[in-house]
Amino acid sequence: MSDVIKLMPDSLANQIAAGEVIQRPASVLKELVENSVDAGASKITVNIKDAGRTLIQVIDNGCGMSVTDARMSFERHATSKLTKAEDLFCIYTKGFRGEALASIAAVAEVELKTRRADDAIGTDVIINGSKFISQTPVNTPQGTNFAIKSLFFNVPARRKFLKSNSTELQHIITEFQRIVLTHPMIEFSLYHNENAIYILPKGSLKQRIIGVFGKSLNSELIPVEIDTSIVKITGFTGKPSSSKRRNDKQFFFVNNRYMKNSYFHKAVALAYDKLTLPDCIPPYFLYMEVDPHTIDVNVHPAKTEINFENASDIFRLLQAGIKETLSKSDVTPSIDFDNQEAANIPYFRSDEPIPDEPQIDYDPNYNPFISTEKPQSFESLGVNGNYGHGGARRTTQYDSAINTGRKRADNWQLLYSNINDDSPSPTPVQSPLMQIGSKYIASLHDNGLMLIDQYRAHLRILYEKYLRQIASNADATQQLLYPQPLDLDATSLAMAYDIRDELMSVGFDIDFPSPTATATLRGIPPYLEQNKAIDVLIKVIDSYRDEHGNISSSMKDILARSAARSEAVMGGRSLSNEEMQTLKDDLLATQQPEFSPDGRKTTIILRPEDLEKMFN
Ligand code: ADP
Ligand code: MG
Repeated sequence: MSDVIKLMPDSLANQIAAGEVIQRPASVLKELVENSVDAGASKITVNIKDAGRTLIQVIDNGCGMSVTDARMSFERHATSKLTKAEDLFCIYTKGFRGEALASIAAVAEVELKTRRADDAIGTDVIINGSKFISQTPVNTPQGTNFAIKSLFFNVPARRKFLKSNSTELQHIITEFQRIVLTHPMIEFSLYHNENAIYILPKGSLKQRIIGVFGKSLNSELIPVEIDTSIVKITGFTGKPSSSKRRNDKQFFFVNNRYMKNSYFHKAVALAYDKLTLPDCIPPYFLYMEVDPHTIDVNVHPAKTEINFENASDIFRLLQAGIKETLSKSDVTPSIDFDNQEAANIPYFRSDEPIPDEPQIDYDPNYNPFISTEKPQSFESLGVNGNYGHGGARRTTQYDSAINTGRKRADNWQLLYSNINDDSPSPTPVQSPLMQIGSKYIASLHDNGLMLIDQYRAHLRILYEKYLRQIASNADATQQLLYPQPLDLDATSLAMAYDIRDELMSVGFDIDFPSPTATATLRGIPPYLEQNKAIDVLIKVIDSYRDEHGNISSSMKDILARSAARSEAVMGGRSLSNEEMQTLKDDLLATQQPEFSPDGRKTTIILRPEDLEKMFN
């Protein structure tokens, strides 16, 4: 019998390698743009057609290639960046495997035009599915111009598994963001079907972040500077108020490469613990510099995880460093009873001012138009309230332990007013109520102790209110007198465009000139307040993205939840007895009082037998 083992042809090997490196159009963009960065370009332009199915073109003004190198660059393991195995551990350039171009050329039609500064004429190479077609001299500007057409034309299975254009475009945008955030000194632009998605002039890191994510971040970013012997961390982190449920503006970079790191994410989340709503996190852009010998560079090019030798030390430094950054920038509460250092300090620190409790008493001189201390919508609430912002200090330990209100009680009245909105006034038997940590209400219930999470309870009440309103208004729209431009980031805009019919079905009338041009809000559901409508709409789009693929929630449900979240006052408000009572009664009057709309517990009941166990 003859031997059976043969070497596979290069074209097949390349196609197999492409399966690992090139998963979708976004992977092509990443490889090409990183090559342009490595080539020293100061300007990089990306043109995409049909989310990369038809064309991915990257044009740079970098060093260019010689005639021979232009051909060579498509060979497997051809690289100008790595000569000895040791280099693998000290990687400063982006690519290092010499695999990307060979892989791309195996699964697409590729045209490369390139010229070095000193060459009078450039070269034009065409390769289709690893097959060399031609190489000719060409007039071309200094630098390199790669055009990748008909991606996966010869791998139908791959082509079929590409997702919708808007999903693929989202991947492209995400990949692009990760690169541009590491090179603010390079000018970048990204076009999709000839519409500009990003035009980013060179500038500071902060300018770049704002260029990518919008002006609204401008006042939200706090500079970070953590300098230790094992890691240096710079960049920006968001104020607690900028936190969102969705995680799409959280970026770690190590030695200027993007990395995913859920462990370090946790460290940042812990630094914000109790400053934000549960599950919410502000944007952050954190750049770590470490000795390359202390990280395990991901040899797999498509992976973004990186192992750190000193991971647990970095975790602690990061958590402490961000915490300190926040406290220096004066955005943290002055008292944090729940944090660990404070655990040994009984009740309170006398040097910390404690905000006054809001008081419900009628103020005949109150004029909403001359006071800046009160919330804007105060008057419309029909609640007579008065803040006592005297900066008084409480001195009894008892008071401060019970009421650890740490923020000014900005909108606490909303809670009161909304509850009365459309619910019958209950006339309950008053059992004593007590507020714990400005977040929970304790009361006796059914021979047990009931603890209510204020925020979640409020969400449940508002959610059911909105469900009723949505049901009785069907798809009615209230046209806006002045249509408003929607300031959405590129990914949210693409998503909104994708679900425009569903948004219309619940009353949002939006004009989209194209999937990428600024959209205009023309009409809103009639029961939403106009000044909240955009916030609700953004939450709807966010939730829709979070839950993509989860068919159990309808657009109506998402809208009701988003509207509730936009309106619910945060935990951490001091409530009067009357407010606590109303909140409790209204919660118990809902269809599903035990759970918040997103399925978390609103209440805990401790029965004597539970207590017995706890005392055991
Ligand atoms: P790697 O980046 O790992 O070296 P690639 O397959 O991505 O492997 O690229 C192969 C080689 O082609 C690079 O090492 C580089 O010499 C050359 N090259 C690729 N893109 C460019 C570019 N835009 N400008 C100049 N040279 C390039
Ligand atoms: Mg490369």
